[in-house]
Amino acid sequence: MIHITIHDKACRGCQLCLDICPTNVFTFDAAAAKATVAHEEDCIGCLSCSYLCPSGAFRHEEHRIVKNFYRDCEFLSRMEKFL
Ligand code: SF4
Ligand code: SF4
Repeated sequence: MIHITIHDKACRGCQLCLDICPTNVFTFDAAAAKATVAHEEDCIGCLSCSYLCPSGAFRHEEHRIVKNFYRDCEFLSRMEKFL
């Protein structure tokens, strides 16, 4: 089964991973201002979170890569400042 790790010190709390994940794997810990993995079992291995995270905070293990089908033009326009 897939295992997702978010590097605690690397996460800057931007919440981009929460916005992009198509299966809502993450929640946001407001007190710590960091993303957390809440539903690891729902991950489909698209790696969108890993590609978009500006801190490179993700590590995915034991996953099969699937085609990155998630295309959201409005979201991608908001991402431009990070590209
Ligand atoms: S995209 Fe990266 S830096 Fe932003 S909240 Fe998610 S893990 Fe943290
Ligand atoms: S790899 Fe895709 S499905 Fe899995 S947590 Fe990241 S964005 Fe969500």
